Amino acid sequence: MVYKSIDPYTGKLNKQYELISNEELENIIFSSSRAFRKWRKLNIEKRQDYLLRLADLLEIEKDFHAASITSEMGKPISQSLAEVEKSALACRYYGERADEFLKPRKHPSSAGSSMIRFDPQGIVLAIMPWNFPYWQVIRCLAPALAAGNTVLLKHASNVPQCAENIENAVIKAGFPADVFRNLFMDYNQVSKVLDSEYVRSISLTGSNTAAEKIAAKAGSKIKKLVLELGGNDAFIVFDDAELEKAAEALVYGRFQNTGQSCIASKRLFVHERVYPEFLNLITGRIKTLRMGNPLLQDTFIGPLVNKTAVMELERQLNHTVDMGAEIILGGKYGKPRDCFFEPTVLVNVSYESPLAREEVFGPILPVFSFRDYDELVCRVNDSRFGLGCSVFTGNSKIIEQLSEDVDTGTIAFNSFTKSDPAVPFGGVKESGYGRELSEYGLMEFVNIKTITVF
Ligand code: NAP
Repeated sequence: MVYKSIDPYTGKLNKQYELISNEELENIIFSSSRAFRKWRKLNIEKRQDYLLRLADLLEIEKDFHAASITSEMGKPISQSLAEVEKSALACRYYGERADEFLKPRKHPSSAGSSMIRFDPQGIVLAIMPWNFPYWQVIRCLAPALAAGNTVLLKHASNVPQCAENIENAVIKAGFPADVFRNLFMDYNQVSKVLDSEYVRSISLTGSNTAAEKIAAKAGSKIKKLVLELGGNDAFIVFDDAELEKAAEALVYGRFQNTGQSCIASKRLFVHERVYPEFLNLITGRIKTLRMGNPLLQDTFIGPLVNKTAVMELERQLNHTVDMGAEIILGGKYGKPRDCFFEPTVLVNVSYESPLAREEVFGPILPVFSFRDYDELVCRVNDSRFGLGCSVFTGNSKIIEQLSEDVDTGTIAFNSFTKSDPAVPFGGVKESGYGRELSEYGLMEFVNIKTITVF
């Protein structure tokens, strides 16, 4: 196996990378464990300074990093730039606040005095996907390093340039050697890393198929695990919603990153009273989205990551149409080049169809109408996933009720769902467990140690 960087727009090979040898792998795990002993002892403010330098560097070199995202997985360049900027923001967030989050706290108990410390765990293995190749890595790296852990990265095998660039940026920011290492590994080698006594926790963002295997292995070795997996988020529009604003949010929430986002708004539920009007609004907006060369500033829809992704969407679309759905917009793929898939909208969609039940990782939107609240909640929660949900309404009672009734890790009102370094992010049900970002995300990578003095 080799890691191949292929441009999905041109189909050309950018570069390929050989796998690391088993011997090198063992040496790096050992070096990372040695680096951990020093890194954990470093004053927290110093660790934060490194993160702030990394934030500065990502901002200064954002054009370079954005271009590598676009050339490896086809994200339109304006969105790649936004991803790099957001990654810098996460470094800055922990660079400015980690000391406050990690400060030992007094904690009343039956002991004479008691307190809680937040110690690092050891090596964190980050296993990451290609769809946000910088953001996913940084949102693990920044809190894990701030807490005093060292990090080994196994990135998706189709984004090796991004992996290499992130490692180079960490080195350039001046972090001590071996505090963060990128490893081009196959699955057997990942398994070896999981076996190592020095590796204490794993953060996996990816598919449920990968999670089942990695969680089984991590479980057999009693290792801490954070799982950020797939989603099938609902986007709900009530009849009192500001429809223009909701349409704008829906189009961004469903079609950014060409629909390849875990928290994309993948199922649209519209109150029957505003259904025709809202459908007109969104189809009007979707028609204006520019599809094409992802390196052009005004491109909003780029190629999908590869041809396999196009074939999977084709299967999900055709099966759903066979079950009675009607395509009212788009539906074509493979044009103007192999990896393209038109933004597509369907109505009369069966609740049992792939578009309703599976995660659809591309620019397809099934639309459902609803009449009453209970029916809506039942439909929204009828999913094996529970990542996010977006709702447009001005009714504070509905906001309160839905906040409690919807079974997801996040619910956003009057916006599409987005992650933010300042608030926890994660899912329930088959969308995973554990949280990333904010103080809660940092807590996943520490030993919450109780000290009692009697
Ligand atoms: P994936 O195929 O599961 O891959 C994710 C990572 O896991 C890659 O680095 C992959 O390496 C590795 N991997 C897969 N199977 C493995 C195994 N048996 N042993 C060791 N490593 C293994 O997922 P993806 O296609 O890259 O990403 C898309 C999925 O990620 C979607 O389901 C999306 O919803 C989810 N996602 C979730 C979030 C969230 O925050 N909840 C965010 C982004 C994406 P290879 O590339 O070498 O196979």
